[in-house]
Amino acid sequence: MMRFKSTRGAQGATFGEALRSGLAPDGGLYVPATIPQAPAEWRSKNRLEDLALAVLRPYLEADVARSALAHGLRKALNFPVPLVAVDAQEKLYVLELFHGPTLSFKDVGARTMARLLRIMAERERLTILVATSGDTGSAVADGFAAQDGIRVALLFPEGQVSPTQALQLTLARPGVRAFAVRGTFDECQAMVKAALANPKGLNLSAANSINVGRLLPQMVYYFWAFVQGGFDEAVVSVPCGNLGNLTAGILAALAGLPIRRFLAAHNANGAFPHYLATEQSTFGPSLRTLSNAMDVGAPSNFERLQHLMPDMKKRITGYSVSDEETLASMRRVFARTGYMADPHTAVGLEAVRRYRQAAGLRVPAVVLATAHPAKFPATVRRALGRTPAMPAALADLARRARRVEPLQSDRAALMDVLHSWE
Ligand SMILES: *Cc1c(COP(=O)(O)O)cnc(C)c1O
Repeated sequence: MMRFKSTRGAQGATFGEALRSGLAPDGGLYVPATIPQAPAEWRSKNRLEDLALAVLRPYLEADVARSALAHGLRKALNFPVPLVAVDAQEKLYVLELFHGPTLSFKDVGARTMARLLRIMAERERLTILVATSGDTGSAVADGFAAQDGIRVALLFPEGQVSPTQALQLTLARPGVRAFAVRGTFDECQAMVKAALANPKGLNLSAANSINVGRLLPQMVYYFWAFVQGGFDEAVVSVPCGNLGNLTAGILAALAGLPIRRFLAAHNANGAFPHYLATEQSTFGPSLRTLSNAMDVGAPSNFERLQHLMPDMKKRITGYSVSDEETLASMRRVFARTGYMADPHTAVGLEAVRRYRQAAGLRVPAVVLATAHPAKFPATVRRALGRTPAMPAALADLARRARRVEPLQSDRAALMDVLHSWE
């Protein structure tokens, strides 16, 4: 039976336990105790939900019935994830992960985790807490909304998310309450941690980025890129922040996917590329950039990555891309190919350009496109002098009903609202 262990040594959690608790009891992060090879038939799965079932089933076999898993995956992965040839001659591709309801790749992990948690915690009443600085909160809220017996409390720092993110976070959804906290993101996180540590009779769970239930589903789209492209091998460029996306790719590689090399594409928050180049840790406070979902100074999945792949330098090359270079990348790609990249994806595209300058053009390169350009109209306009077309989901957003409540940055205040929630 598949077990999950902690990066710090604790043994033997089931998937359900790892999913419910998030963090291991010794403070480490959960990783699969063994990594089964993906079943050979993955190449012949030409629907995302079927591929997801083939790739994920070995990890969840003992915990989730096949039919429930299949149903959950179908509900969660109900949007296209196309591989787009940006420049066929140059063998340059992007995998567009942003066609879900909140227009960022976070929909994949968050929606799947929501379904898995619903299956595992059947008939329980659960309150999910999420501290969010942007994309995660709305993806989680959307994933859980209208699932019986589950409700979600979102905490975000008031005035510190982008206008589009604010619209998405404060959308009125059944079973969801959004709290604009008078404080920083770190304070939101501290409130959630304190509530989990002392739930006072409430049935609480957290949907933060270190949850293994978000990580495993992200393996699937790495396989999906290979299925669509028919690649024998490829280089994959990952726009990185907390390194969750990259860690999922490493899991896919360990499960047998022939990824020749990973490009860890960071913005000015370059501590991880610096570590790969020098083995010196300079993790610390984050800088603000145009690719704000990647503004992470001390990536929370670093510990997991190091555990899974101690010799990661052999497989991963790191890049740090400034805001000016990000804008230049958006311009260059658009001028050459007409492809409009958002600032996060543009960082990934720039990493490919630098990698190929050094290594030449051999195998196909796939950039994970993590956000829709229409989420960042001001930056796209600044780079390209035009505004991206608004997808219907976003155009509709401003017209829908909103609900948001102010909350003091205070642990007791959070417990009060949770206790009085009918
Ligand atoms: C969260 C996010 C990232 C970074 O992903 P990690 O898994 O934290 O490394 C990149 N791009 C976008 C648009 C994001 O929302």
